[in-house]
Amino acid sequence: MARLFDGQRLIVASHNPGKVREIGELLSDFGVQPISAGELNLPEPVEDGDTFIANAKIKALAAAKGAGEIALSDDSGFALEALNGDPGIYSARWAGPTKDFSIAMEAVHQKLQEQGENASKKAAFICALCLAWPDGHTESFEGRVEGEFSWPPRGEKGFGYDPVFIPQGGKLTFAEMEPSAKHAISHRADAFRQLIDACFVTQK
Ligand code: IMP
Repeated sequence: MARLFDGQRLIVASHNPGKVREIGELLSDFGVQPISAGELNLPEPVEDGDTFIANAKIKALAAAKGAGEIALSDDSGFALEALNGDPGIYSARWAGPTKDFSIAMEAVHQKLQEQGENASKKAAFICALCLAWPDGHTESFEGRVEGEFSWPPRGEKGFGYDPVFIPQGGKLTFAEMEPSAKHAISHRADAFRQLIDACFVTQK
């Protein structure tokens, strides 16, 4: 049995205002008031875990202990079967210091080419969420969406690796899909469904 979220304020362990807003929207049915770790001037911890969940835990625990309140973090990325899960937890870093995702997508394409014609194109987006309490208790969830790497990049709508990912059974890349269609099946939606089922009381 997971521990329930019984607060109102929720510290979002991120300095990215876009992420904080999105998390607030996803939890809006539960009267949650999101406050970013950035607003509270909490330091950003070093993310030196070797899994998405480990990094999510590092971020959520640092924020929960720093603020003395319940905190939620999110750590996500893109993983290719033929590259043993790379770029994985390094997804943001593959875009280099200028955060240029055309460089990151090209690097994935190059590495797949090096594997030869028959290399698997199987790919997934993964999202880990961690809810942490100041006493050190954590609840973690991992959401996924499976699909294929598609080259060249197509579409203008998304961000990051969206232009090279086609979800299973589809024809459009995430960057060609309407945001609402992407959000209905995304790794983040999957992880939030698990978090809400386990830790947020719904009125049934
Ligand atoms: P984080 O914000 O540090 O967790 O970094 C996650 C990285 O993974 C982002 O910079 C994106 O490159 C990539 N990523 C995560 N989710 C998505 C998505 O929904 N679409 C495209 N790229 C994503």
